Order: sequence, then C-alpha cells, then structure tokens
Amino acid sequence: MRNPLDTLRPDVRAMHSYVVQDATGMVKLDAMENPHRLSPALQAELGERLGAVALNRYPDGRVDYLRQVLAAHTGLPAGYGLILGNGSDEIINLLAIACNRPGATVLAPVPGFVMYAMGAQLLGLNFVGVPLTADFELDTPAMLAAIAQHQPAIVYLAYPNNPTANLWDDAAIEQIIEAAPGLVVIDEAYQPFSSKSYLDRLARHPHVLLMRTLSKFGLAGVRLGYLIGPQALVTEIDKVRPPYNVSVLNCECALFALAHLEVFAVQAQEIRTQRAIVSAALGVLPGVKVWPSDANMLLVRVPDAGKTFDGMKAKGVLVKNVSKMHPLLANCVRITIGTAEENERMLAAFQTSI
Ligand SMILES: *Cc1c(COP(=O)(O)O)cnc(C)c1O
Repeated sequence: MRNPLDTLRPDVRAMHSYVVQDATGMVKLDAMENPHRLSPALQAELGERLGAVALNRYPDGRVDYLRQVLAAHTGLPAGYGLILGNGSDEIINLLAIACNRPGATVLAPVPGFVMYAMGAQLLGLNFVGVPLTADFELDTPAMLAAIAQHQPAIVYLAYPNNPTANLWDDAAIEQIIEAAPGLVVIDEAYQPFSSKSYLDRLARHPHVLLMRTLSKFGLAGVRLGYLIGPQALVTEIDKVRPPYNVSVLNCECALFALAHLEVFAVQAQEIRTQRAIVSAALGVLPGVKVWPSDANMLLVRVPDAGKTFDGMKAKGVLVKNVSKMHPLLANCVRITIGTAEENERMLAAFQTSI
C-alpha cells in the first residue's frame, strides 16, 4: 500500500501551517484583538441568551435577521446586499471559488493580508503581489501595470492595510478601481479604528465590493465577516456559500453585540486614544520608527527585530515579528494596541529590548 500522505497535493504538503503563537500567561499583543472583555453583567445576559438558542436545529431565519440588522447598522446603498461568512477568511475563499474561471488571478499590494494569497493558492487561482513603496504607500504605476498585464479577477485593497496599518491615497484607489477589469474588494477589517471608510464611495462603481468583520471590532472569537455589494453580484457569490456557514451561536453573539453598540464604541475610542499615546512614546525612542496608523496596531521598525521580539517575549509581552514576511518589512514588528495597563507593560518591555 502506498503512503496515504502521497494522496495529498504536493503544494499542500509543502505548506507551513498558519502558526498561532502560544500566549498563555502573556500580554497578548500579536493578533489585533480587542483587549476588552464584556462586563460581568453583559456576560451573564449573553449567557442566558445563548442558553436559550435551539442548538438541535440548523441555523434558521435568525441568520437572515442578523443580515438585516448588519445591513441597517452599516447603512447599505440602495440595491446593495450582504453575505455573511464565518469570518472574512471564509468570504475570501467564497470569492475565490466564485471567480475561479480558468487562469483567474487575484492581485493585491504586498506586504498585505496573507489570506488573499492563501485563498487564491488553495483554490487554484494565480496570485500576484505588487510591492508597496518603501513607505508602504500604493505604488500606483506598478499596480496599474500589473493590472494591465494580469487582468485580475479580484483586486484586494485592505483599507487600512495589515500589517502596515495605513490608509491608501484616495486618488490612487480610484485609478486602480477604474483600471480593474474584474472585481475590487475593499477590506475594511479595521473600520472601527479608521478615520475613513470607502462606504460612501461604494455605489460609484458596480464592480467594487466592501468587506468587513466583527473580529477587530471585538468579536474575534465569534467569527463573523460580511461582504457588501450590488445585489445581483451578491446573489451569485452567495450561491457558493455553504448553507449553514454561520452557527446559531455566532449569530446570537453578533446580534447581542449589535444591540450593545455603545459598549464597543467606547472600547474603540479608548483604543484610538491609547494608539496615540503608544505611538508617541515609541516614536521618541532612538533608532525606532513608527508609521502612522488608522488601525488597532502599530508597525514599528527597530534596529534588530529578532532581538526586540525575543526580549519582549522574555518579559511576558507577545507581539508579532513581521520582519520575515516581506523584504520591505525588514526589522519590523507589529504591535497591537492593548489596554492602558498592557500598553505600559509593553512599552517597558520594548524599551529594554531594543
Ligand atoms: C484581521 C483581518 C481580517 C479579519 O479576518 P476574520 O476572518 O474576519 O477574522 C480581514 N482582513 C484583514 C486585512 C485583517 O487584518
């Protein structure tokens, strides 16, 4: 009998698993999670609500109701619809499945969110990454040339971008959208912390979709992403969605959170305030460069990212060493904004690790 592993795709066997760092007992500032938990009163209220959910049934009309609540919360343009995913990660896969015609290409600036490339690769689409400039702006001529050459089915623009935390220039975005022969997906995972959104410009272009998630908002553990687009397009893409992709528990948690938006708005404001404090504190350190951020993270260049990462880890603070992700990120670490107390511990650990 041959080795059962030989049945698997060679490219899958050659892949590395997505590494989730062990954060037990550490200040966890590596994954852009919201550091705030629900108050005990809200925990009890949510617990009661979840306990009453019919777990014996497949997800039902309640998920449709969540779709309506999210649509109202977002404020969809007329004629636009919304698809729910088990996180944006699933939406990225659904888009790849739906657009996977022979030779289809996904294009995005790099460094960027790794799931665009991974979704493309796993579903058999080509991926083209177009390097940003040294200061992490869109390289508009390079983007336009790559679009002309590769005729991508999907262009992803994370707005703000991960891991660079910045927004793109408005004129550059419009040029890219106008040049794109396929779909353009604006990924607003960090919208709660951003000074801008593409939402009010969305209806200008029938081939532009907007993706959001409740992960960075404060429900990373729940897994709920959504895609907004012209109804005709959304109806087609929705056909490839597994029928019960959003669990009743995810759905009920999301409805609960959307009924307590004020709690999450206060948290987002606190994170933005902390971002300014942390950015200023890091920015005055010699040999340290901090880039502007519209997200709940800061990209920071240090003299030796390995040394800083290891030093901070030894002091109980976990950040992300992104320096090997892309040559443009040489000696960069990505630091998620935590609570005031966590940020103080982070700054103390950082100062003694550069
Ligand atoms: C974190 C992140 C997401 C969120 O993915 P989920 O699957 O919804 O948790 C999407 N896009 C970008 C750019 C991100 O950084």
